[in-house]
Amino acid sequence: MTEKPLIVPVFIPNQGCPYRCVYCHQEKITSQSAEEVNASTIARTLDKAICSYRFHPARKPEVAFYGGTFTRLTTARIKELLGAVGPYLKKGLFQSIRISTRPDAVVNKPLDLLKNSGISTVELGAQSMDDGVLERSQRGHTVQDTVESVGLLKEFGFRVGIQLMPGLPGDTQETFMQTVEKVVNLRPHMVRLYPTIVIKGTALEKWYGEKRYKPLTLEEGVKICQESCVYLEENGIPVIRIGLMSSKTLLEDNQIVAGPWHNAFGFLVRSRIHQKRIESCLPERGLTAEMRLRVPIREIPLVRGYKNQGLRSIEEKTGAKVTEVIRDDRVPSGEVAVDLL
Ligand code: SF4
Repeated sequence: MTEKPLIVPVFIPNQGCPYRCVYCHQEKITSQSAEEVNASTIARTLDKAICSYRFHPARKPEVAFYGGTFTRLTTARIKELLGAVGPYLKKGLFQSIRISTRPDAVVNKPLDLLKNSGISTVELGAQSMDDGVLERSQRGHTVQDTVESVGLLKEFGFRVGIQLMPGLPGDTQETFMQTVEKVVNLRPHMVRLYPTIVIKGTALEKWYGEKRYKPLTLEEGVKICQESCVYLEENGIPVIRIGLMSSKTLLEDNQIVAGPWHNAFGFLVRSRIHQKRIESCLPERGLTAEMRLRVPIREIPLVRGYKNQGLRSIEEKTGAKVTEVIRDDRVPSGEVAVDLL
């Protein structure tokens, strides 16, 4: 398994964004207010990251400006932010920069300038490929904007990421899978899945209170992300994140009003995918009363699942008690070896 690139995020919540999508409360999501970000706070963030034991040039560290609409910032602000990162790129401490932006903020923007300043990846908040869902979510852009920006960004040689949100107003399991199919056809380099949650102070909270919006349950959110993730990865598109990051302010009392929130959401999905993969290795129901599982070390947590839910599910399917899960790196990845006891 290759190690993931190390991404050091710098959040610029809502900056450059003239909209307020119905679910958005960037400051709550990122624990940071936009005004705080300047050259010296960026330097502090990067210096701190460099001192971390997880930091290593071999992990191809990247600086990421997230949470705002980077390509809609003023040129002076763009230069200020990129200028703060420049010295770190020159010294080889960071390899490149990634930014997030809106699909309607790419055409007619100075992409040459961005490309020449060390930005290699642009993540687009596409959220859905259904115009009805985008409109109801007050996104302020269309599917066509996403299609055009992906094409343009690729022309300029950027790596392109697409962020998607299952569970937006008007979305269903079926329309979301259509979104995923359309995204596969766009061939982005990566996708992130952020199931919609209801955050205090947003329009969505009001709609939820008025029963005009029904969020996904946790189970529905996990299932839809599981299916999307498998479909995307089977089509060669890596899913690099599933579920929102925990942040201090988001976790304060009552900030998350409803929706499929779980502090280990991505792990729940990955573990569910793994459970499905190993199904064919398990004995038929009734074949044994007890069994021991041998598993490659990196996959032991996925087999066990969150709070051993994976083991409980294996026991339910097979009717056999799992007495032990032990390391065996001779077992191929994606499989388990079963010792009947
Ligand atoms: S585009 Fe992004 S930052 Fe702007 S309102 Fe929507 S979610 Fe928030």
